[in-house]
Amino acid sequence: MFSEVAGRIWASTRIGEEFHAICACGGRFSGTASETRAVALLERLLGEATGTGVVREPHAYRGWTRGPAAVTLGEQRFAAHALVRSPATTAGGLTRLILDLGRGTTEDFERAGAAVAGAIVLVRHEFMVGSGHFHRRRKYDIARVRGAAGFLVACNQPGGLLVTGSSGDGGPGHIPAAGVAFETAAALALANGAPVNLEVAGTFAERSADNLFAELPGESDEWVVLSAHIDGHDLASSAIDNASGLAAVLALARAVRHLAPRLRRGIRIALFNIEEWALLGSALHLAGLDAADRRRIAFNLNLDSVAGAPGLTALTSRIQGVEAFVRRTAAAHGLEIGIHSPFMGNSDHANFIRAGIPALRLCAGFGAASSNMRLLLTPGDTPDKVTAHQLKEAATVAAALLLAACTGEQPPAPPLDAAAVTRATAD
Ligand SMILES: [Zn+2]
Repeated sequence: MFSEVAGRIWASTRIGEEFHAICACGGRFSGTASETRAVALLERLLGEATGTGVVREPHAYRGWTRGPAAVTLGEQRFAAHALVRSPATTAGGLTRLILDLGRGTTEDFERAGAAVAGAIVLVRHEFMVGSGHFHRRRKYDIARVRGAAGFLVACNQPGGLLVTGSSGDGGPGHIPAAGVAFETAAALALANGAPVNLEVAGTFAERSADNLFAELPGESDEWVVLSAHIDGHDLASSAIDNASGLAAVLALARAVRHLAPRLRRGIRIALFNIEEWALLGSALHLAGLDAADRRRIAFNLNLDSVAGAPGLTALTSRIQGVEAFVRRTAAAHGLEIGIHSPFMGNSDHANFIRAGIPALRLCAGFGAASSNMRLLLTPGDTPDKVTAHQLKEAATVAAALLLAACTGEQPPAPPLDAAAVTRATAD
């Protein structure tokens, strides 16, 4: 069964064509025309791939439109990019002392002590697809809790690249936050302690975003959810993150659809929206399921940033049985699949785990800090970073895991206090 599915994946050129078509929609930032185009395109492509109807699941959320941002130091004015849902600064911007906190770890903030209060703090973005990384949102949260007036995160790659990402939800207590280039941070670091002006614009509005679903029923009423997120950021075309996952899901759907009626579990394809907004689309979807719906989901296989660098890794989040399931599947088909055990709450699989459903995320280039994965969330996340070969490899590895999840024993569910477990082990 697997070799037949793999054959269909490798014999077709559509995976590369669809990847480029998705990227041509633009970065797919939720609430923009680019996202609207992408949802319409994916609705059509998913219908073609599965040969079945596609359901749009709308969710209301507090949307946000990004305005211009800049940092001014004396006569020098630097480009900046507001982090998602940053509060706007008032007219004339926010003028405060710049405080360079280096990487921006808990220890860096502690060392700075009272100087954080009232300052515009400067921290560094880090390579995200690996262990030992201290997430931007944690740095941001420490900054605002300690009374910082503004937050700047600098790209860790030279080349004039801005960086983006989420911050808070823009509610009370949140502070203006923006990404700047590596070179801007170098200039600001030399002026550490000097006054700088931060301007951030953005407006909030009630919006709706659609998740897309298509189902390939199996023999029972159980499901394996194959997911990828639609939305991205507006600095580039969000090619690696996550047009790669979308293209792989479509290719896989096309390759397995005729087999689904013979599988023990059906395949529910979920393309989630507003993922870059703290995983909102999948959270709202799962919150809308009742206990019986959730019990019928045996597993979630989430494809996020699955091409752009060699090698695929399963992020297994210490869920009992999942690591062994990946090893068994890899060995059965002679595939190489890396395993990273600690919980990684960095994509939609985390919400499935929180809902008590076993899940894993597949991603490319894990731990390869010099690979193209270093360009996620920057203007460098463009289609030229991804090859059709990598996309096919991702779809093949995903096919093996999907078929095993649809035919094998159910992996044990995470403990009922999964939310507490995942909070405790988040890195
Ligand atoms: Zn992603």
